[in-house]
Amino acid sequence: MPPPPDVVAVRLAAARNGTAAAGLDGLLVTNPVNLRYLTGVAASAGMAIVTAEAAVVVADARYLRQFEEAVCDLPQVVVAAVGVGHSYEGTVASLVAARAIRRLGVEAEHLTVARLAALRRTPELAGGECVETHGFLERFRAIKDVWELGRLREAGGRLAEVATCILPEVSEGRTEREISWKVELALHGAGFERPAFETIVASGPNGARPHHRASDRRIAAGDLVVVDFGGVLEGYAVDMTRTVAVGRVPAPGRAWLAAVAEAQQAAIDAAGPGVLPSVIDGAARAALARHGLAEAFVHGTGHGLGLDVHERPTIGPRGDHDGPVAPGMVFTVEPGVYVAGQGGVRIEDDVVVTTTGVERLTGAPPDAEAHEF
Ligand code: ZN
Ligand code: ZN
Repeated sequence: MPPPPDVVAVRLAAARNGTAAAGLDGLLVTNPVNLRYLTGVAASAGMAIVTAEAAVVVADARYLRQFEEAVCDLPQVVVAAVGVGHSYEGTVASLVAARAIRRLGVEAEHLTVARLAALRRTPELAGGECVETHGFLERFRAIKDVWELGRLREAGGRLAEVATCILPEVSEGRTEREISWKVELALHGAGFERPAFETIVASGPNGARPHHRASDRRIAAGDLVVVDFGGVLEGYAVDMTRTVAVGRVPAPGRAWLAAVAEAQQAAIDAAGPGVLPSVIDGAARAALARHGLAEAFVHGTGHGLGLDVHERPTIGPRGDHDGPVAPGMVFTVEPGVYVAGQGGVRIEDDVVVTTTGVERLTGAPPDAEAHEF
């Protein structure tokens, strides 16, 4: 189900106002995820020009009808076709000239160098200026609307159910790849349209690599097994990690599990409206430092979730560039410990910032003992 027209209309109005407030005559949207956010249409091609008054979606024949149907109830949006034999750049340049746009914002993180050069070569843009913007619409996307929170809550609940049914499968003798297939089957069974990323199953020493690819290694008694998986529901990604102790895990592994669980809870307790990402990250880092594991936590504490599986905000030591977290932001809390040659632990849940703190989207808090099979 795409977002209802009134939801899309609010997003478009915010984008139009933001464009004007930034001193731009127009914003050229080329990130397909941003285009989806503004129209509800998931397309591999297409652009939009947003001005203070209106938005023009630019599409070729492959997606024209979908965009026309999606925006037909939105009075301030029109769809312009890229004709056969014409280029996106040429069509955009004509539209920009017709609207007397002088300062055109472009999405620096998404418009390729080749496309920017092609735009600048068009005679229509000769007197104008392409201005780089960074994370312009992504900052709007970071605060989820009520409709999006509904999707993310539903997806988080379903992902927690996938965890409940899949974790008992993590047992001695199974290969990492077998577990990853089972996770993906369970995601399908739970109604997810696709996995959000390639499922990570990292057993024993492989757990020391945060983004290990599932291999043919057989899980052995005494292993810690990191299982990191995510699903996409109606376009929205959720992401979760559990670490399973198979049989009797030797002493350092048990201590890591307890320390990471403590670090995750510390970060969740620290999170809330008005709190800087570095403070949330610092809470997890301080907890691990108390266990002598500061050096073993080699990545940031979390990342935003939404139409992308990694988006704003960044919850890390250097994540404060967009200011404190705010109600409606959704992100992961996923501290970990990685020890080369030995193994690793990660525990990940998804939360939404409320007016008073955070709400967990991926079910009940993990209990280290409960995940021993
Ligand atoms: Zn994950
Ligand atoms: Zn994650």
